[in-house]
Formats: sequence, C-alpha cells, structure tokens
Amino acid sequence: MVSLRSTGPLAVGGPLSMHLAGAETNVAIGLARLGHRTAWVGRVSDDELGEFVLRQLRAEGVGTDGVRRDAERPAGLMFLERRTADVTRVRYHRAGSAGSALHTDDVAAPLAAGARVLHLTGITPALSDSARAATTFAARQAAASGATVSLDVNYRAGLWSRAAARAALTPLAGYASIVIASADELDLLAEPGADEPTAVAGLLRRGVRTVLVKLGADGARAYTHDGVQQLAAVPVTAVDTVGAGDAFTAGYLSGHLDGLDLIDRLRRAVALGAFAVTAHGDWEGLPRRDELSLLTGNAAGTTL
Ligand code: ATP
Repeated sequence: MVSLRSTGPLAVGGPLSMHLAGAETNVAIGLARLGHRTAWVGRVSDDELGEFVLRQLRAEGVGTDGVRRDAERPAGLMFLERRTADVTRVRYHRAGSAGSALHTDDVAAPLAAGARVLHLTGITPALSDSARAATTFAARQAAASGATVSLDVNYRAGLWSRAAARAALTPLAGYASIVIASADELDLLAEPGADEPTAVAGLLRRGVRTVLVKLGADGARAYTHDGVQQLAAVPVTAVDTVGAGDAFTAGYLSGHLDGLDLIDRLRRAVALGAFAVTAHGDWEGLPRRDELSLLTGNAAGTTL
C-alpha cells in the first residue's frame, strides 16, 4: 500500500510525501536489512503506484517474484495526516483496491517455492473474503509443509469488528507456531474478555510454541511452555511509534532464523522496535546487521 504523509492538516492542502506502507512489507524489509532472504506476496495496481511499491521493495532487497499486477483495481492508499504536533490521523482508501483482491491463486505458486517462515497479519484477512481465504490457505499449506507460521494479530478497528476479527483469527492461530499481539489484542484469539494468562494458555494448548506480547515503551513478554520471560524496552527518544510492532516482529523472526535462544530473540525484537520509534517512517530507520548494537551502546562509532 502507498501512504501519503502530510506535515499539516489535510483540509488546507499542503505537501504530501509518498511512502511504502504495510505491516507485512515492513516485516519483510526489516528482515532483508538484516541480511535474510525474504519475499513479499500480494497484489499491486498496474500503474505508477504499483510500480513505486515494487521499486521500494526491490530497493530494500525484498523478493517480488510472487507479486501480481492487477490491471483492474487501483492502489490502496493511506493518508497519514499530521493534524497537530501530537496527533496524527490515519484514513484508508483501500476498499476495492488491488491489494484487497488477493486470491488463493496468487499465493499458491509462491508458497510452493518454499520458505522457512511464513509471516501473516490480521490485516490481510480483514480486507475481503478472497483475501481471508488466501490467508487461511497459505497458513494451512505452510504449516503442512513444516514451515514456521507466524501471525501478528494487528487488529485494525477501521476494517472489522472485534467479533469478526475473532471469528477469522482464532482458527488462523491454530496454524501458527509464533503468535504476536498487543496485550489488548490477545482476547481476539480466545473467548471475549479472556485475560492474558487464559488467552496465552489456550494458544499454547492449541500448538502455538511462542506467544509474544508487545507492551509499547514497557517492552515485551514471551510465553512458551517453559514459562514467561519479560524484557524492558531499549530507552530511546521516540519520534514516531508507527511500525514499532512490525519492527519488533522482524527482529524476533531474525533471531529465530539465526537460531538464537528465546531471550536473545526477544533482545533483537526490542532493539528493532526501538530503532523504529527513533526514526520517522514505518521502516526507514530499521538497522542493517552491522548497526544492530547502535542503540545499546556497544557499536563501533558511538564514541565518535
Ligand atoms: P504499531 O502498531 O504502531 O506498529 P504495536 O502496538 O504493534 O505498534 P508496540 O507495543 O507499540 O507495538 O511496540 C513494539 C515494540 O517496540 C515494543 O514491544 C518495544 O520493544 C518497542 N517500543 C515501542 N515503543 C517504544 C518506545 N517508546 N521506546 C522504546 N521501544 C519501544
């Protein structure tokens, strides 16, 4: 999706800047920056905006062979309106977009190519019936082939109700071995109103191996069958918190791919979350591998 950012109220016009946006693309870019081979699968419009999305992904080293161009539908747009210095409003124009027309046929071939990890979010299944079917198909196929399926709840109230999200995401979580959620999203994978321990216990019982709970500036918790580990956030000056969750996920999955143990995976996750909030943009500030320790004080160069 393309995001158009204003530096002031949209109603009075003013310059807009164009950026690539999207939870899954943010995660793919975060992983690619750390040197992992990644690919993004989806539909983009067959015009300049679709070209822009492809160009940004390629520039970041994300594979685009599985991207389908849709000549019939426009690009999905998101306006990020800096209404006041402290309030940014989000408005979506994505109904009927190319991305929302994702179909099972679009994902079958890329999936057959194989991957160690399939990362999904709760945004895509909210976009349309066909996108929901494609997401479920992808999760089922990947899990059956032995891949690690990762699911970030990423609840978007503007797209569907909590009840509709719960009905779609609870079965999807059954294919996942990694589940990522904010504390207030956990009951979307459990009974309405379930508290954190109850929701987590239910997920672990259903075969999820790790449940990650993002706590914003308070860091994160990771639950497994062995118990729970908590890590504080890296103290930084936050200038733009959008994209922190996706960066966190990229960091965790990077640690998973590198075979790190749980606490080190969590360390990398909170490090990437911190990088995301210290820079403007959803993914622009994410680190390359040689920059990983930049915020924790161990990096060459911090004494310059
Ligand atoms: P978003 O939907 O905006 O991407 P989220 O709600 O999914 O965010 P958060 O819990 O806000 O995710 O942030 C994810 C992780 O990023 C946190 O677990 C934490 O490690 C890190 N993080 C978030 N905010 C801060 C902050 N102010 N300072 C340092 N680290 C932060």
